[in-house]
Amino acid sequence: MADSKPKLAALQAVKGMNDVLPPESARWEWFEAKVRALMARYGYQNVRTPVVEPTALFVRGIGEVTDIVEKEMYSFEDTMNGDKLTLRPEATAGIVRAMIEHNALYNGPLRVWSEVVVFRHERPQKGRYRQFHQIDVEALGHAGPDVDAEQILMCRTLLKDLGIPLADVRLELNSLGQPAERMAHRAALIAHFEAHADRLDDDARRRLHTNPLRILDSKNPAMQAIVEAAPKLSEFVGAASKAHLDAVCAALDAVGQPYRINPRLVRGMDYYNLTVFEWMTDKLGAQGTVCGGGRYDGLFEQLGGKPTPAVGWGMGIERMLLLLEAVGVEPVPFGPDVYAIVPAAEALPTAIAACEALREVGLDVLMHGAGAESWGGMKSQFKRADASGARHALIFGADELARGEVAVKPLRGGGEQRTLPLTDIARWAAELRAQPEGAVPAAA
Ligand code: ATP
Ligand code: MG
Repeated sequence: MADSKPKLAALQAVKGMNDVLPPESARWEWFEAKVRALMARYGYQNVRTPVVEPTALFVRGIGEVTDIVEKEMYSFEDTMNGDKLTLRPEATAGIVRAMIEHNALYNGPLRVWSEVVVFRHERPQKGRYRQFHQIDVEALGHAGPDVDAEQILMCRTLLKDLGIPLADVRLELNSLGQPAERMAHRAALIAHFEAHADRLDDDARRRLHTNPLRILDSKNPAMQAIVEAAPKLSEFVGAASKAHLDAVCAALDAVGQPYRINPRLVRGMDYYNLTVFEWMTDKLGAQGTVCGGGRYDGLFEQLGGKPTPAVGWGMGIERMLLLLEAVGVEPVPFGPDVYAIVPAAEALPTAIAACEALREVGLDVLMHGAGAESWGGMKSQFKRADASGARHALIFGADELARGEVAVKPLRGGGEQRTLPLTDIARWAAELRAQPEGAVPAAA
């Protein structure tokens, strides 16, 4: 009788949220290894904070009248106790909350970094997703422009380490001044936009008295003319703020890093002051910002902490991987050193023991695993060995094992198949480890 069990419909991931599977995941790991090495070189320590935070943290931290808080947050009520919670849309607010909560700067400033998953309810497109990942860097407790420059240059070093030509990226900077300077600018902006109230769209009219600065960020073509004519923040930025930006620029000049001062550069969170910057590329269409950051000296107080100067940046990992693809950088190919081919189940105990011995001396070993239907013939095992990217196949054939041997076949760059006494396997592995990637060592 036929099976009458109905076939269940397959489920799909939430729109704008991606799975990362092999071989793509190898590119992520390669990128993450470069990031980890970078952080060690600059003395940044790892931090991890929760994905879920009280909604109030972001409303207070990022600002009530920002795109993120107004329309991009995944917020919900905890069904158990009614708490208002949000999936973090960025990393900085949570890290600052943690620093205040644990009095983590008690012994002095800290430089920290985190790899975070973040959520924003945006229209999904290439390079723009609803769940995405960032590398986030924060220097907490340093007021000097040298640290702003350090962070900008960290990003440059990473780009270089990844093999991205610096000609394919550009750096833009601006100074947002200090709060009092911004207030004076704000008053002038409101006066300007009020004088042209008839030409404002709904978004702009709503923000006129709450966050007129965001009107400058409007992408509505009908408003470009009055946006262009608006008073510039740079006219209100005082000498001390200018000196801070000049010092950042001097550091960039010292290492020959070109930049453009963009007086229109504002960022999507309210917490920034003084330096803001973005690393951009023309290779990714409208999603051209790969890294953005700046100073946020007021955020600690805003979140109930002591006054603490701070500066940080966030880099979109998905965008960086797209950029790598766009400029043709291929990560080092992934593959184990050895693929163990086991023609018959009787050889399994010996093969498993040999594979463990190889792993113990540091080789990457992939052993053929039993499939659903069968163990798999020699031909299909060799096919899998090839597809795995392994440098060598070890063949645990019955004849060889009877003689206390195993066959070794180089899978890359030619070379003959040979046999090796099982007792010699650790010595052979040590030789293999000493070979540069892709080289073919002697079998015995
Ligand atoms: P954009 O102007 O492209 O919306 P943003 O200013 O909102 O970027 P930040 O909040 O500064 O971005 O986040 C830092 C980085 O995170 C960005 O430079 C970008 O690389 C990446 N990023 C931002 N939003 C997304 C998204 N929806 N999907 C993927 N990556 C993103
Ligand atoms: Mg955005």
